[in-house]
Amino acid sequence: MSMDFVKSIYYEIKSYFVPEKLKYPIDGKCLKCGNCCRQIRCYGLKNERELKFMQFIFPHYKRFYINGTDENGDIILTCKFLSEEGKCNVYKKRPKVCRDYPKKIISINAQMLDGCGYRVMKKEFKDYFKSP
Ligand code: SF4
Ligand code: SF4
Repeated sequence: MSMDFVKSIYYEIKSYFVPEKLKYPIDGKCLKCGNCCRQIRCYGLKNERELKFMQFIFPHYKRFYINGTDENGDIILTCKFLSEEGKCNVYKKRPKVCRDYPKKIISINAQMLDGCGYRVMKKEFKDYFKSP
């Protein structure tokens, strides 16, 4: 079991219980492209075996299947309830993680998928010197 995999379990648990400290407001609106259900990034998860372990601990992962890997070798997941038109087939019964996405305040690795209608309002160091 790799350290990244252990971290991914830790972050999943933390997302339920621990309020984040770094905050980046989100602006924009959903364009209903479905990509956030088609290209789900999974920090630290590398293979089918690790996904199965996550599915065992967190049952809502059972809706996801592997659809590729990213530049870090982490798996990219797709939800089996996503329709060809990019709509959720279980919209009224979708899990909390889907209902909350995107959180209006997010933290580490704050970024949205390319082409998403939302954007993260990150503050650069120089922004702190601008007058209000
Ligand atoms: S990727 Fe962004 S624009 Fe596309 S469905 Fe998800 S939230 Fe909406
Ligand atoms: S359950 Fe619906 S909203 Fe959640 S990932 Fe699947 S298709 Fe998207």
